Amino acid sequence: MLARLPGPSFERISPSNLEIFQVNVGKLCNMTCRHCHVDAGPDRTAEMMSRETVDLCLAALDRTAARVVDITGGAPELNPHFRYLVDQCIARGKHVMDRCNLTVLLTGPCRDLPEWFAARGVEIVCSLPHYRKRNTDLQRGDGTFEKSIEALRLLNAAGYGKGDPRLRLTLMHNPAGAFLAGDQQSMEREWKEGLAANHGVGFDALIALNNMPISRFLEWLEASGNLQGYMEMLVNAYNPGAVTGLMCRNTLSVGWDGRVYDCDFNQMLELDARYADGRAVHLRDFDPAKLGERGVVTGRHCFGCTAGAGSSCGGALT
Ligand code: SF4
Ligand code: SF4
Repeated sequence: MLARLPGPSFERISPSNLEIFQVNVGKLCNMTCRHCHVDAGPDRTAEMMSRETVDLCLAALDRTAARVVDITGGAPELNPHFRYLVDQCIARGKHVMDRCNLTVLLTGPCRDLPEWFAARGVEIVCSLPHYRKRNTDLQRGDGTFEKSIEALRLLNAAGYGKGDPRLRLTLMHNPAGAFLAGDQQSMEREWKEGLAANHGVGFDALIALNNMPISRFLEWLEASGNLQGYMEMLVNAYNPGAVTGLMCRNTLSVGWDGRVYDCDFNQMLELDARYADGRAVHLRDFDPAKLGERGVVTGRHCFGCTAGAGSSCGGALT
């Protein structure tokens, strides 16, 4: 059992202007990674956003000033309404980001996606645990690294990762164990050199995320006896400078069933965003003005976002 943690507690976190509308279209994934905070996998077919809920998302989006739509999963590309959602967001003038695990691009129905994305200027944010084969396969399973490199080649061939701001390719790194993400800038240089020299592939930017102590990574921390030490490390590395940029301040995260959360992590913990009167927020009664008055729901997992340089879907915060 986790002993009581010393250190700071979270004051009330208030939202700022909504900039990013994140949509998690389901937990179906072609992979089952050890650190997965979504607990996604090939057997998660029941948790899939329906067309009706996609339309509720679009109606809610139309009532906000969010400029970015961040589509995630699971492997979001496996949702049958994924392309419809992307096209509808593009038609609304939104900047669309796809959170891609790379290997899904090699599966039959997704093989045309690099060109399809390029034609629409969709930003691709790809998870790749490391630029070295051993570290990546350790976290994601044997053979993942080679498939990921093949997918990166397809994206490069479609124009991604070559400095064109319309075809931006970002890689997302998270540590392979119970330690914090390293320095983002120096890692980006090292990864660019390593991937270009050894595999001839390029990308535009690297973001480094801390592993959050939830879901499958939490189970691993418990099973390996690392939970207490990891939590103490997160608390001891608390960086108050990271609070201003927390993603829960400028993002809303919608789940596959239309429930609304302050962030993706709260979504995985089923901690619903709540209006000031305590009601859980759902797309069916979406009220952007009232949402601005809420306090963000926080918990001990939030120390994963404020440790070290800070961590968010956009990478380091300070
Ligand atoms: S970490 Fe990403 S790729 Fe791996 S199982 Fe989870 S959603 Fe799928
Ligand atoms: S997990 Fe991070 S983003 Fe989510 S509510 Fe906590 S501090 Fe905010």
